[in-house]
Amino acid sequence: VTRRAAAILSALALLVTSATVALGAAALALPRAGDLQHAVDVLAGPDHAGRRSGTEEGVRAARLIARWLADAGLQPGGDDGSFLQTFVLESELTPAPHSRLHVAGHAGEIPLGIAWMPHGGARAGEVVGPLAFVGHGIASADGWDDYAGVDARGAVAIALEGGPPHRPDVQASRLEKLILARQRGAAALLIVGPTLASPRATGSPVALASGAVTTAGADALLAAAGHSVDALARQIAATGAPASFRSTLPVRLRIEFAATDVTAHNVVGILPGTDPALAHEAVLIGAHHDHVGMVGGAVHPGADDNASGTAVAVGLARAFAAAGGTPRTLVFALFGAEELGLVGSGHYVGRPAWPLERTVAMLNFDMVGRMRQDRLMVGGVDSGAGLGALVAGAARAAGVRAELRPSPFAPSDHSRFYTAGTPVLFFFTGLHEDYHRPGDTADKINASGMARVAEVAARVVLDLAAGAPPVYVKLDPPRGRGGVALGARAAPVVLGVSADARRGWDGVPLSHVVPGSAAARAGLRDGDVLVRLGGTPLNSFDDLRAALSRARPGEVVRIVYLRGGVDHAVTATLDAHL
Ligand SMILES: [Zn+2]
Repeated sequence: VTRRAAAILSALALLVTSATVALGAAALALPRAGDLQHAVDVLAGPDHAGRRSGTEEGVRAARLIARWLADAGLQPGGDDGSFLQTFVLESELTPAPHSRLHVAGHAGEIPLGIAWMPHGGARAGEVVGPLAFVGHGIASADGWDDYAGVDARGAVAIALEGGPPHRPDVQASRLEKLILARQRGAAALLIVGPTLASPRATGSPVALASGAVTTAGADALLAAAGHSVDALARQIAATGAPASFRSTLPVRLRIEFAATDVTAHNVVGILPGTDPALAHEAVLIGAHHDHVGMVGGAVHPGADDNASGTAVAVGLARAFAAAGGTPRTLVFALFGAEELGLVGSGHYVGRPAWPLERTVAMLNFDMVGRMRQDRLMVGGVDSGAGLGALVAGAARAAGVRAELRPSPFAPSDHSRFYTAGTPVLFFFTGLHEDYHRPGDTADKINASGMARVAEVAARVVLDLAAGAPPVYVKLDPPRGRGGVALGARAAPVVLGVSADARRGWDGVPLSHVVPGSAAARAGLRDGDVLVRLGGTPLNSFDDLRAALSRARPGEVVRIVYLRGGVDHAVTATLDAHL
């Protein structure tokens, strides 16, 4: 602690009143409980429908927070002189109208979007090949092979959804059918089913032209070869054998996509430093403003997660701006798309509003609205030298029982900053039964608790904005843990991956592979899409969870996955859950 900071701290001890702390010669009016509650009420209210990033309500919340920061007198820290930092959340694919499917040389087209739909992960372009029917498109380990006796090379293959009715043990997911069609040399695979899935739901890339086709659409193709879906399905059921064949009928399939970007926003405001010798350095005060929106038809208001943290960060912005600022610059960043995988903070770290090498610390407020028994958890105190003592002192002065936690690794935005080399502090009042549920409402917020969190934070900010900057301490990530270890509750084993919740794909796209975990040792990487674990096809994250819940520590499992549209297989030795 420098002499200047020591002077401020001793002044604090003398000059604290119920609602202000000393800021140099001036007084800092602390955020009041009523104002913090009001901000939560508005953010978690009906206008914002759970603030999911990428939705209209999510954008509305971001614009409102931008106005709050502007009204507080902050300078814009976003793109092009605005308070908003915009980033692409995902690219929504829609099939372009030039996409077409028909028997070559025949005029009748299968209508796009009505009788067929390209898979979102399909290889774009045009293929022409002879029509082949390949049953259900499955080859099983015990000898069932829908491709037996059929040369599928170069063909536009058609397969039925599901598996053969008399063989419930013969199962394959959509992705496995595409992988098999590729392995057998088909130019394309069309899968027949009653409904057409959206390109978004079928977005896992596979290096093959592919799509879904309705029974009517498939019949229109097969009729030219003298067949029908119904007759072929009945033949399979009657004979208990595949009814596959290759025709000479040429089918033309053209797939094109148009992409529309779905964007989301961070909100960034800057309060310039008052000391010319320190103003080039900044303290970052952050919180995510998004929540999960509508889930299962119910609005999830996200009052504690994380209207509360947003309210505290905005309250601090107003307080420090009204007091004229601190010696170092303060950067206030309200992140979008935290709930979708720390996306907004990841964007900020890549394009910081203030250089990270001149950002002396990052404070993250995520769920600070449910203080119980005066308890406040503060994580990351080992991420910078001296942070523990600093927080302990601030908490003591505010009459709050701080529970200090050394690790900067947690599934919230500060972990992005820690990984980038910035000391971090994570303010948190604890989990509860309403976490990520419709019951996380504004009426359950402890407003005076929020005000006390804000007071502790204000004291910490005052010190960090004036004293010697904390020296970054490099810590090893916890092995097989860190809040992202899959199966943390249900399974006795840990694979060490988290799925990418943004995608909505079948298969399991990985957003994160924990270093040193079973998955990492097997060679899996971020971005891989898991397709099968042992004997279980993986249509969703839940399938993976279920498969792991049946596994045993030390078990060696075979994992099939897609990388860059091409399938691979590895074996992984599962770890015991710690
Ligand atoms: Zn949160």
